[in-house]
Parts: sequence; structure tokens; C-alpha cells
Amino acid sequence: MARSGNGPRQPLSVKKPGTTRKAAVPKDTTPSPTAPRPRRTAKTFGQKPSQRAAPVARSPKTKAEKQAIATIVLERLTAEYPDAHCELDHHNAFELLCATILSAQCTDVRVNMVTPQLFARFPDPGSLQDAPPEEVEAIVRTTGFYRAKAKNLIGMARALVRDHHGEVPRTIGELVPLPGVGRKTANVILGNAFGINEGIVVDTHVQRLARRLGLTREPDPVGIERELMPLFPRESWALLSHLLIWHGRRVCFARKPACDRCVLADVCPSAGIDG
Ligand code: SF4
Repeated sequence: MARSGNGPRQPLSVKKPGTTRKAAVPKDTTPSPTAPRPRRTAKTFGQKPSQRAAPVARSPKTKAEKQAIATIVLERLTAEYPDAHCELDHHNAFELLCATILSAQCTDVRVNMVTPQLFARFPDPGSLQDAPPEEVEAIVRTTGFYRAKAKNLIGMARALVRDHHGEVPRTIGELVPLPGVGRKTANVILGNAFGINEGIVVDTHVQRLARRLGLTREPDPVGIERELMPLFPRESWALLSHLLIWHGRRVCFARKPACDRCVLADVCPSAGIDG
């Protein structure tokens, strides 16, 4: 007859007389951030880190650990998104500047719906600087904050004509003072219109992914950019933003990231979060 599992427990081992057992030294079983990790199963996927039986990649603590993850992120996302590029439609630096100003608090898809009409009506700074505000407002209305954006577009065009011979300047110091232009917009223009890697564009996707991957704990975009820059080769900065943005839009969603099909899951300390 089979023995019941509820009976009295038997000793696992018998200590020999005269011997002393060494105190067990607990091993640190936490894997390094880049060590291969057991695949999550349907059973463990979606559990909070505290609920998982198997350890996951811990947050990188040292610069070397962050560097190792950064290298993997760049490598794998470059392979995953070989066509990653700026998704704001444009033909020149002026159009990209207008589109980027309009993209504040708005999707690229929505911006791309209004810019063809805007660029057809006002193709250069000279024509946009004299535009009736109500006309620009009507064109950009669906991008939100349309009065402020129309005012910034016209003000930006006037500043280009007045201070830069109608050309978009190529330095961050000249771009940032333009109406509607901050450091993020300036980085977009320099990286995408001129191929100048002056900084890293930190938008909402880049902020979220950089934190989830453990590359930074900075709360604001300027601090995040400062921490990311030394981790990635300068020539990759513009591309890196596109890669993180593409991954954020397609896999690492703000709510319910699709970690089960993420190429970074084995090195990501946030894998399995609900968002
Ligand atoms: S999708 Fe999941 S595993 Fe991938 S980067 Fe985002 S949080 Fe990490």
C-alpha cells in the first residue's frame, strides 16, 4: 500500500557522532544583468517580480553593467528594426522643424495628416512668417494646443528670416531660442535633418524604456539624456532614439508591454511587469 504523504516526516540525513556540520553559506544566486536567464513560462509570465520563483535579470548597478546592457540593446534593436527612422513626414529641415513643433502632445500619424496642407500653403519661412494666425490655426487644429502651436510656427518662421537668412540653423545654441523649440526638438532636427549627433532625443518612449531597462533612474529628460549619452557610441545617438521609440510603439507599450515577444527580455530587469 502506498505510504501517505501526511505521515510523520523522516530525517533527511543522519548526523554521524563526533562530526560537526559547517554552517551553510548562502550563495548569491542572482544572475548578472547580462547572464542568460531561464525562459519564463506561461505560468510565471505576468507575475510581479516578488511572485516569480525564478530570479530575473537584476537592475544594472555599475557603469560596466549598464554599458553591457546598452551594447545589447543597440545590437538587438538594430537587427530587429533595420528600417527605423523618424516617422514625421518631411522633405527638408524647415518641414521637419514645423512637424516636430506640431508633434508636442500629439501622435506622428496625426501630425502627418495636417502637414501636407500646411507645407503646400506655406512652403518656407518667408511665406509662413506672414501667415494669418487663424489660417494656420485652422490647419493644425486637430493636433491639439493649436493656438499655441500656430503662434510658435509663425514666430519660428519670423526668427528664421530675421536671424538666420531664412535657413534652419545647425547648432543647438541657435535652435533652442526659436519659439516652440526645446532641447528635444533641437536634437530631432540636428540628428535627422543634418546628421549631427549632438544629443539623444528623449521623448516619452525613450524615458520609459531607459528606465525599464535599468539604464537610468533619472526622473527628467535632461538627466536621462545625460546618463544615456556615455553608454552609446555618439554616431548611434539619432538611431538609438528611433530604435527605442519603435520598440516602445510596437512591443514595450506603456500599459501591458509585450515582454513575451521582446528581444530584450533576458536582459531587462522589468521583464514581466504589467506596465
Ligand atoms: S517589453 Fe518587457 S522585457 Fe522588453 S524592454 Fe519592455 S519591459 Fe523590458
